[in-house]
Amino acid sequence: MMEYKLWINGRWADSKNGRRMAIENPATGEKIAEVVDASREDVDAAVKAAHQAFYDGRWSKLTPGERSTALWKLADLLAAKAEDFARVESENTGKPYSMVSLGADLPFSVDNLRFFAAAARDTHGYSSGEYMKGYSSIYRREPVGVVGQIAPWNYPLMMAIWKIGPALAAGCTVILKPAPATPLTTLMLAELIQEAGIPDGAVNIISGGNDTGQALVEHPDVRMVSLTGSTSTGKKIMKTAADTLKRVHLELGGKAPFIVFDDVDVENVAAVAALTSTFNTGQDCTAATRVYVEASRRKQVEEAVVEAMRNVKIGQPFEEGTAMGPLISSVQRERVQGFVERAKASGAKIVTGGSVPKGYAKGYYFEPTVIIEADQKSEIIQQEVFGPVLTINSFKDEAEAVRLGNDVLYGLAASLWTKDIGRAMRIAGELEFGTVWINDHIPLTSETPHGGFKQSGFGKDLSAEAVNDYRITKHVMIKNT
Ligand code: NAD
Repeated sequence: MMEYKLWINGRWADSKNGRRMAIENPATGEKIAEVVDASREDVDAAVKAAHQAFYDGRWSKLTPGERSTALWKLADLLAAKAEDFARVESENTGKPYSMVSLGADLPFSVDNLRFFAAAARDTHGYSSGEYMKGYSSIYRREPVGVVGQIAPWNYPLMMAIWKIGPALAAGCTVILKPAPATPLTTLMLAELIQEAGIPDGAVNIISGGNDTGQALVEHPDVRMVSLTGSTSTGKKIMKTAADTLKRVHLELGGKAPFIVFDDVDVENVAAVAALTSTFNTGQDCTAATRVYVEASRRKQVEEAVVEAMRNVKIGQPFEEGTAMGPLISSVQRERVQGFVERAKASGAKIVTGGSVPKGYAKGYYFEPTVIIEADQKSEIIQQEVFGPVLTINSFKDEAEAVRLGNDVLYGLAASLWTKDIGRAMRIAGELEFGTVWINDHIPLTSETPHGGFKQSGFGKDLSAEAVNDYRITKHVMIKNT
């Protein structure tokens, strides 16, 4: 069984209060590790370390090239240990090992780090001439300072990289708190960070629950808080951060529409809908959740999607061919089941799935689920479920497709499916979402920004925009005469 302490100032440190948390494998429900539940005093020690590392310049005053070299080395070290990380990530989240080792988690995280290593050297600083006679102006893009970073459980390692990568590239120092259920791969990063030559105190990793996060957000020496998590946590953090007027960076929930016009290849659309609503067991903020189909094709699309959902291979994470593992916890499974039961009670129909799959009494499995005839205003359409559940509804024309697509509080990602390029471009302009895919759903790249509109938050992950979110502009004015 793995055991971890807190990583503060380049050393493993015991908690000041001795509280520990059990970590389980959601595919079996068994305990696999024990970590520290950091107290307010531990948070204080981590902030002190990050504060000192920022103000003595051991990281913030390195040249962009030096920071880049260290980040690149970290990417190489992570790539070399990819198998170990993939195994632990799979045990801690229940994700299929093949998906973690070949796809979204390990290779993409390494690529993200390499991108941030390169982006560290593009400082976006610009100097300019004279805006007032006899004076020269220079703009400096400086790191914001000490940043508190709080991650969710759905892609633990990748979220840790999306947090520390741009912050370190910008020259900030950080205190990173992984989600209480999934701290293991983030804690495993600690020694690689040191080996990469990133100085002690530049990255501090503290496991803990919501109270630990709250203490981090309240801390007066933290200049910025970056959260990936639910919209309700984002609202709480923004309120707390107001007391010390911290900058906030919020990547929150989603409820992606998947808008299908009548000129598409139905089999392909159905395959992508099933894949992207069950990928990571639907615990993805960009998952396809609301399928809207032009009325003439609704029935046909429904039949194809239902068949594709029934064919999603549920299995143990390390079994070959497994496409979908369990949900993260018993609480999450009860939550998903609750949404489905209430949808049923409100008059919607479950056409496939809706319960625990046969033979999976152990662990927190849930069937791929398709719901039809749900009212647009009902909870199952309006709220983020975070499970392998999608609804199918119809629309009569372009205007109604846009209206239904936009009719939620969230604005993270959307897709639309049509061969008509003019229509695709018109609708892409109308949809209020941070990402709009045309004829696909879910791909991300390191170079392109990812972030929300509306109650999905603000600030960008990935891309050079993410690095700039961790910088602040200073104007230096020089009198020439
Ligand atoms: P959560 O909001 O419950 O927790 C996220 C993190 O916030 C955890 O580390 C938790 O301990 C911490 N936290 C909770 N309350 C806090 C408080 N009051 N102060 C400080 N920290 C606090 O979210 P989750 O259940 O771990 O993750 C799922 C959510 O994350 C979903 O809503 C999903 O859409 C969202 N998400 C968004 C993105 C994105 O890019 N927009 C990506 C992944 C996940």
